[in-house]
Amino acid sequence: MISPKIQDALNAQINAEFWSAYLYLSMGMHFEAEGRTGIANWFRIQFKEEQAHAEIFINYLLSRGGRVELKAIEAVPTTWESPLAAFEATLEHEEKVTAMINALYALAEQEHDYATRGKLDWFVAEQVEEEETAQNLIDRLKLVGDNGLALFMLDQELATRVYNQPAPLAAE
Ligand code: MG
Repeated sequence: MISPKIQDALNAQINAEFWSAYLYLSMGMHFEAEGRTGIANWFRIQFKEEQAHAEIFINYLLSRGGRVELKAIEAVPTTWESPLAAFEATLEHEEKVTAMINALYALAEQEHDYATRGKLDWFVAEQVEEEETAQNLIDRLKLVGDNGLALFMLDQELATRVYNQPAPLAAE
């Protein structure tokens, strides 16, 4: 049986993953409306990944005999000044998620819940990737500046991103 403290923290994390999903879906809608369909595609795949993250935690909590509590998802922003602004907001948000995962990891250690700690290992590595990807796109958008052709080409590239089910879900 899972401790009430860990259960609460996992439920908060499930909510945070759904909020992330909502944020990236909103970014996808925004860029779709702006005609940046490649960037929109990138964010819509990010939306699916975040939903999968929530599902991984849901399945895990259920497997431990815990109770999943789906809380209200707070509203997200609806517009961004530029692709650069959206990716900067993405990085800032992912840094917050990393801090949450780290706090959850510390709590699992404190509670001697090594199963939860082990489950979090994949998320620790995933957060490194999320931050690296956002930073990489920020760097490239800064290089692109206001060069329309370069931005068009980057948009074309991001249009090729496809969804891959995260490993912990695929394994279940
Ligand atoms: Mg996530």
